[in-house]
Amino acid sequence: MSKLNVKVYPDPILRRKALPIVKVGKEEQKLAYDMIETMRASDGVGLAGPQVGIGKRIIVVEDVDEDSSALVLINPRIVKKKGRSHFCEGCLSMPGIMNDVTRPSSVIVGALNLDGETIKIDAKGLLARILQHEIDHLDGMLFIDRINFLKRRQITRKISAPKTCMEL
Ligand code: ZN
Repeated sequence: MSKLNVKVYPDPILRRKALPIVKVGKEEQKLAYDMIETMRASDGVGLAGPQVGIGKRIIVVEDVDEDSSALVLINPRIVKKKGRSHFCEGCLSMPGIMNDVTRPSSVIVGALNLDGETIKIDAKGLLARILQHEIDHLDGMLFIDRINFLKRRQITRKISAPKTCMEL
């Protein structure tokens, strides 16, 4: 396993729609293990392909309801969502930024596992939130897209401002 480089906003790959994986093979298995290692080394609870520069529909998430297992989901999609909850989110691709995000509180996600089998995950609470955050990444969406426009402008201005300007 090897640790991958995490792409940081405003890297353009974070805005691109990732492509479906046609066949799950050795390459995807290695990628998944590398992504899990990268997520854990970065103290994250989820990671999506585009965040490590891979434009494919694959995510890894820490199974927060279990002890120490990570879930690998290929071509994940939300098939059902319910409820509403608020939670303060962060993202490995936007270090140092956290904000409240409103999302459905429970979801059912369909995907393929690393053996290419169809799986279905019924998630609520933190796991539901991580899954939604990571699936958003596959569509080029970041959590700041789901917050109030003014807050978002504040955040993106802060990030894109040249260092010298911030000292003025
Ligand atoms: Zn993220």
